[in-house]
Amino acid sequence: MALVKCKECGNEVSTTAKTCPKCGAKVGPKHYGCGALIVAFIVVVIMVKCISNVSDTTSSSSSSGNSESAARQYESQWHPEFHKGITQTLAENGIRGCGEYKYKASLKHDNEYVVYCTSDGKNWSAYLVWTSIKKVTGPHRTDPSFD
Ligand SMILES: [Zn+2]
Repeated sequence: MALVKCKECGNEVSTTAKTCPKCGAKVGPKHYGCGALIVAFIVVVIMVKCISNVSDTTSSSSSSGNSESAARQYESQWHPEFHKGITQTLAENGIRGCGEYKYKASLKHDNEYVVYCTSDGKNWSAYLVWTSIKKVTGPHRTDPSFD
C-alpha cells in the first residue's frame, strides 16, 4: 500500500483513501491526475475544433469571390447546344454578339446560367442569365477557370 503526502497538511495518507484522515482534504493524486487528463483532453478537443473552424472560415472566405469558387457553382461541362430560354432571355434583353454561345447551368439555383457569347468564335464575353425572370447581367470578363 503506497503512501502519499497530503497536500494540505503533509500527513502521509494511503493512496486508496479519498480524503486525508487528519485534515479531511482531498487526496489521491490519481484522481487529480485523471481529472487533469480529462480537462486536458477536452481542451485539446476544443482547440482542435476551433483550429479546424478557423481554417474552414479562412479557406472559404479567402476563396470566396475568386474565380475558383465561382466555377464550382456551375456545371463543369459547357453545353454548346441551343437553349430556348437563354436565347429568348438574351433577345429580350437586347444582348448582341450572341450569335454563337455556350452555357453552363448553375448547380445551386434553377434557371440560372453562365453564358459565353461570341460573334467571331474567338472573343468571348460572359453573361449571367436567369431564364425564369428574363434577367441578364453582363458582359462580364470571361473567367479562365470556366474553361
Ligand atoms: Zn491532511
